[in-house]
Amino acid sequence: MEFQTRCVHTGVDKDSAYNSCITPIYPSSTFAWDDLKTNRGYDYTRSGNPTRRALEENLAALEGGIDCRATSTGMSAILTAMQIFKPGDHIIAGHDIYGGTYRLFADVLSQQGYRFSFVNMSDPTNVDKAVTAETKGVWLETPSNPLLNIVDLQAVCGIAKSHGLTTVADNTFLSPYLQRPFESGVDVVIHSTTKYLNGHSDVVGGAVITRHQEHADRISYIVNAMGLACSPFDAWLVLRGVKTLGPRMEAHQRGAMAVAQMLFEHPHVDRVYYPGLKSHPGHDLAKRQQRGFGAMLSFDVKGSRANAEKVLYALKLFQLAESLGGVESLVEYPETMSHASMTLEARREAGISERTIRVSVGIEHPDDLVADMRQALEV
Ligand SMILES: *Cc1c(COP(=O)(O)O)cnc(C)c1O
Repeated sequence: MEFQTRCVHTGVDKDSAYNSCITPIYPSSTFAWDDLKTNRGYDYTRSGNPTRRALEENLAALEGGIDCRATSTGMSAILTAMQIFKPGDHIIAGHDIYGGTYRLFADVLSQQGYRFSFVNMSDPTNVDKAVTAETKGVWLETPSNPLLNIVDLQAVCGIAKSHGLTTVADNTFLSPYLQRPFESGVDVVIHSTTKYLNGHSDVVGGAVITRHQEHADRISYIVNAMGLACSPFDAWLVLRGVKTLGPRMEAHQRGAMAVAQMLFEHPHVDRVYYPGLKSHPGHDLAKRQQRGFGAMLSFDVKGSRANAEKVLYALKLFQLAESLGGVESLVEYPETMSHASMTLEARREAGISERTIRVSVGIEHPDDLVADMRQALEV
């Protein structure tokens, strides 16, 4: 089956009692046994639930993995995936990964004995240079946030394999519709389903997708043992959202390209960060590695912080809010919002300035989005 058909048809034929055309929500916390040895596949919802299982089947099929576990948030998916490693292990991660992931690694897991190096993965040889005798894993995220740097998944996986390391990729920014890290050799894929997979800004959730049996067994064990699974209702919402993933991503990208091109030509804009533009340093790699350029972009306005503020307040369709991947367009200011937990020096080193605005382009008509962005720049 083609991708878009799998989105609609995987994990939905679950109701043999009434033949409902969509998967029911089974909120039951517990399931009755037929006898002392037999149940119908489920015993307790922390361990497994038919609605959640339906979502897991769907997401495993979309990424091309053998199994999936749906978790309560993207962060709990990341925490789950990290349990493949153990205290004492050294993990190499990108220096511009998601802020919450950085906090979990640098502040929480570091305290528990895990060790991390954060390197600029735009140059894959930096990964090779960071490998030590204790290195066990590589944490990948591409495109990066908020400046959309592209990491060469195949090159980094090649280096990781040569050292016997396990690779984990956070594929939240593109979704499996636009990028499938397993095809580049990645071992484990995680998602914040809060973003494009659900797509409607009405649930927080996560997923860990595996392609090796040993990882599938470990992840399944950990989600149950640590109690990290998502609720049946949240699973149902994401399963509902994912059915339109393909058409939504196409609409998101059309809008993003239109907004990026307008910004690129606008006299009040200094710089646009969007892999779809030929001027972007990762354009050729993104073209090779991704099935599209996605709908996240950032730009630097000319002038000062005051100019950036004026633009943010003048926008009418783009709401001032964190998060991304929903049908509605959002703008945010990394300096005081998404990247406020980084130190000023770290922000500047990552290329985030006082004039940087991040945009999550929704699925509104591109003409309306371009017109709104243009009027805000001209205020
Ligand atoms: C949002 C996000 C997360 C965290 O997900 P939550 O659902 O907010 O816990 C992790 N990685 C990336 C790339 C994200 O955008």
